Amino acid sequence: MNVEHVLTTCPYCGTGCNFFLQVVDDRLIGVVPCKTDEISRGQLCIKGYNAHAFVQHPDRLKTPLVREHGELKQTSWEAALDLLAGEIKRIKEKYGPDSIAFLASAKCTNEENYLFQKLARAAVQTNNVDHCARLCHASTVTGLLYSFGSGAMTNTIPEFENADCIFVTGSNTLEAHPIIGARMLKALDRGAKIIVIDPRDTPLSRLAHIKLSQRPGSDIAWINGMIKVIIDEGLVDQDFVKTRTTDFDKLKDVVKDATPEKVESITGIKPAELAEVARVYAKADRAMIAYAMGVTQHSNGTNIVEALANLAMVTGHIGSESNGLNPLRGQCNVQGSCDSGGLPNLFPGYQRVDDEKARAKFEQAWDVKLPAKPGLTLTCAIKEAAVGKLKAMVIFGENIMMSDPDLGHVEDAIKELELLAVIDIFPTETSKFAHIVLPAACYAEKDGTFTNTDRAVRLIRKAVNPPGDAWPDWKIACELGKRLGAKGFDFSSPAEVMAEMATVTPIYGGIDHDRLDREVLRWPCPSKDHKGTRILHTQKFTKGLGTFAPVDHAPPAETPSDEYPFILTTGRNLFQYHTGTMTRRSSKLEREAPEPYVEMNKGDAKRLGISEGDRVSVSSRRGTINLKARVTERIIPGSIFIPFHYAEAAANRLTNAALDPESKIPEFKVCAADVQKG
Ligand code: SF4
Repeated sequence: MNVEHVLTTCPYCGTGCNFFLQVVDDRLIGVVPCKTDEISRGQLCIKGYNAHAFVQHPDRLKTPLVREHGELKQTSWEAALDLLAGEIKRIKEKYGPDSIAFLASAKCTNEENYLFQKLARAAVQTNNVDHCARLCHASTVTGLLYSFGSGAMTNTIPEFENADCIFVTGSNTLEAHPIIGARMLKALDRGAKIIVIDPRDTPLSRLAHIKLSQRPGSDIAWINGMIKVIIDEGLVDQDFVKTRTTDFDKLKDVVKDATPEKVESITGIKPAELAEVARVYAKADRAMIAYAMGVTQHSNGTNIVEALANLAMVTGHIGSESNGLNPLRGQCNVQGSCDSGGLPNLFPGYQRVDDEKARAKFEQAWDVKLPAKPGLTLTCAIKEAAVGKLKAMVIFGENIMMSDPDLGHVEDAIKELELLAVIDIFPTETSKFAHIVLPAACYAEKDGTFTNTDRAVRLIRKAVNPPGDAWPDWKIACELGKRLGAKGFDFSSPAEVMAEMATVTPIYGGIDHDRLDREVLRWPCPSKDHKGTRILHTQKFTKGLGTFAPVDHAPPAETPSDEYPFILTTGRNLFQYHTGTMTRRSSKLEREAPEPYVEMNKGDAKRLGISEGDRVSVSSRRGTINLKARVTERIIPGSIFIPFHYAEAAANRLTNAALDPESKIPEFKVCAADVQKG
């Protein structure tokens, strides 16, 4: 048996581990780790080891489908693309370009996302293009742009190993980013101190030196409380604050009110414990903060991110080896889809669409007039569809009927659309409502790049052919662009697309597929002789001086009431991934975590007469789901947790669509809920 090994990048979390796909006769038979990969170093988590399993699942979409008389019927690519292009043209002519929205995809490559946003901007003349970063780290992008001028991990994954203090909040790192968690455990072995602040116990928090549990929705209060301790005890890095930052006085003015008593009353954290955390973090030589969606998915998510940036700057823990602020991105290419311009206000490389100079550059490169007005975010597009203002959505590789908040509202909204086109690898909860469904190739069936959470641009390589008549998304985007009459969609390979993207995206200016074959490149990499950038903000911040944001505590949009006495928070588990489209079709992963559950505190369960494994209904103001109870001490009294992977009890039927005003990220992490037995 001749086994071929094809080096590629994991399609699951944003860690971006490389591994070899094992191929026999155009079929995947397994995954082998790559020892020379500087990210994974020969390790993989269970999802990585099973990353081949869903690829040849019989459910894969294999032919284009078009809805006729209420049913999806098979058709040819020619017919489906002609219909899609014709409908886009009709709707554009009748209602204007801003009646159409495109969704790019954190599961597609940089090259594909570059083409998706080019389709929206150059072929349809709308900036209505967004993707699921809106639902996970949009507040990181807005918050860190304000504080530092750049919204990405400031350091690299290997640096966790050499930190003296690792401060983790809002991240279940060992389950959601296991190989990054493994680096943290190496640091622990070396004697580093790990601090975790989280409403739940996590596998990492059980090993931490200090674990504190805050009330959900109280993050700015404890962060400001820490900063007050640092100021009061003379632990500020005065030199750093003086030479590298601005607006420290404004911050001091806000945090002076964060007294220990006040902070405890908001957060539930004891003053002495918070002071100890502040001292350990501030006094460490090398301290890295890691955070994820527990921080970002709030109606004040941008401000929480800015508060963490304040904490890093006030102690000078930023801009050097193993010192920094590190948002852990959830999906394989969510960093890259932001970099590639899958955002309604930004061209590729974070260049503003309302900046005349930037727009002129893209107009010249693409030979077309471009719109100046920022487009709709994904969350606002749903609201506009619900009131009949948005008429069409073209969705590449996203499952909004699982991933968005308040799914009842999303369903009502997409039923109003005159055109819903879904391009995906499997039928999804969203494609059930589509007028046109196009079959796409998955990561193992095409070439391209993903950018992982530490800004490393990583090749994916074609190992097998797509099933049936499925096409890679980049080819679908090109064919659609040509049918819409746009110029600049004549690409014959992803490498050619990257070559064009590099010419208009300064942070990717020196990146090409040939180089990536030989070396690890992290952006910014502005020229062909540049080696890429491991650590951001070393001499100065991207924006010059770092800016302290004077942010203060604000309550979540919903707080518990008599009718809804619990706070529901959502998240992931180790074996499933995002909306379950891929992992739930991987038999070994599904075997380990096959059904939805709600975690609740032992005391709460006893009071309600609920035992481990009982069926319960969980309700919010938006809906009810039924699932099994897991009775545990992992979660604080008054809070419950539901993973959002399971369509049969979709947590997002319950979540609140209240938005952070700046980033428009929804408040997934706090909603008022009730639990009843039965
Ligand atoms: Fe894949 Fe993330 Fe696991 Fe690495 S840690 S193998 S990237 S899921």
